[in-house]
Amino acid sequence: MKYISTRGGVAPQNFEDVVLTGLAPDGGLFVPETLPTFSREEIASWAGLSYADLALKIITPFVDGAISQTDLKQIVDKSYSDFRHGAVAPLIQTGHNEWILELFHGPTLAFKDFALQFLGHLLDHILAKRGQKVVVMGATSGDTGSAAIEGCRRCENIDIFILHPYQRVSEVQRRQMTTVKGDNIYNIAMHGNFDDCQNMVKASFSDQSFLPEGRQLAAVNSINWARIMAQIVYYFWAGLALGAPDRKVSFSVPTGNFGDIFAGYLAHKMGLPVEQLVIATNQNDILHRCISSNDHSTRPLEQSLAPSMDIMISSNFERLLFDLYDRDGAAITGLMADAKAGHMQLSDSALASARKLFSSYRCGNDGMLQMISSVYQDSGYLMDPHTAIGLEAARACRSNSVTPMVTLATAHPAKFPDAVKQAGYPQDPELPAHMADLFEREERYTVLENDQAAVQQFIAQHIN
Ligand SMILES: *Cc1c(COP(=O)(O)O)cnc(C)c1O
Repeated sequence: MKYISTRGGVAPQNFEDVVLTGLAPDGGLFVPETLPTFSREEIASWAGLSYADLALKIITPFVDGAISQTDLKQIVDKSYSDFRHGAVAPLIQTGHNEWILELFHGPTLAFKDFALQFLGHLLDHILAKRGQKVVVMGATSGDTGSAAIEGCRRCENIDIFILHPYQRVSEVQRRQMTTVKGDNIYNIAMHGNFDDCQNMVKASFSDQSFLPEGRQLAAVNSINWARIMAQIVYYFWAGLALGAPDRKVSFSVPTGNFGDIFAGYLAHKMGLPVEQLVIATNQNDILHRCISSNDHSTRPLEQSLAPSMDIMISSNFERLLFDLYDRDGAAITGLMADAKAGHMQLSDSALASARKLFSSYRCGNDGMLQMISSVYQDSGYLMDPHTAIGLEAARACRSNSVTPMVTLATAHPAKFPDAVKQAGYPQDPELPAHMADLFEREERYTVLENDQAAVQQFIAQHIN
């Protein structure tokens, strides 16, 4: 299978190159040239498979022989063996035909583990085969760096350097990153804010001459195709558990960069009968404004209590637009230039076709806190702020009560103790057993100035 860029300016690429490259050289995002589809019978035959076996079925056609079936099975098995729930992604019922898909049983208690555990093992395999090593470099505002670190932890061909703003991430977040053991893991606490960290990473990617011969930087950010691909699996998983393919299913997804919900869109196109996909946003609501009133104009970022959804522009939205515009790379190049300049407007036909499947909703801090509190009081079930926004959106947008509505629970409540306590929960929510000693574990990180020479020298000196 070949992959093409949403901007139309790159010759079709093979799977392994796409995984290693991340962003396409023309600035676009990679998508499969043709999407694999599964028949009803085939989907029905997967009922009862384990999570890892289902993942293998769904991922195989995308890899299309680039990796042997035996190796791919090993990669998938390793990726989901560190999840702390026997079901990997359990469903919890919270109302009539209303479900929560818990995606937070991975090593860092957030759904990003589903993609990053897989991507780490996949990259390591590809690199070993090619006799190559890379340096993964990234910046985090706190909540996503740990998933990348955990994903690369056992990778022999990867050194990972994650920058976070010194003294500007919460203690839980910092400890989740700095207590991971591994001689290929480096946490840099950089003076400055998140933007400074991100600019440092960008500058390093654009001039990599500080690296020793033969090394290059690799990104594991949310536009990497392999991350999207791995996320398709849990839509099928939930659908099968709730009666698909004989029954339709709807999903509500707490959305930031549009990677997670885009995977749901792909699951639908591949044959899963999906009735509704609800884009749940917080006060950074550009996607809600776009879908509900064709207003895709950028506004200043607002810090919310659901920080993993704080975005100005959602990078993976480009992948959906590519389909909505009949895969016209030139049209997407123009639209993306408009979006970057601050205002993009969709054609009537593109918007109409998006609205056939997608609805959207905005839920600010107050609505979110109220949702955490009311569900906890009614049933004793404690949600994290992102999940609460998803559930609020699910209830507001669902078109009928016959189709099961699944809200994706993207993080464990213990990751966001401040929001949970503001919602009226009397104490810090308890960490799961495997994390209970987080505050006793030894931390390892290096504090550096916001100085390009110093950061790059540190990296060059510590590469294995
Ligand atoms: C990353 C993240 C999201 C947003 O996911 P996208 O794929 O960027 O839309 C939502 N909730 C949590 C907890 C996250 O970490």
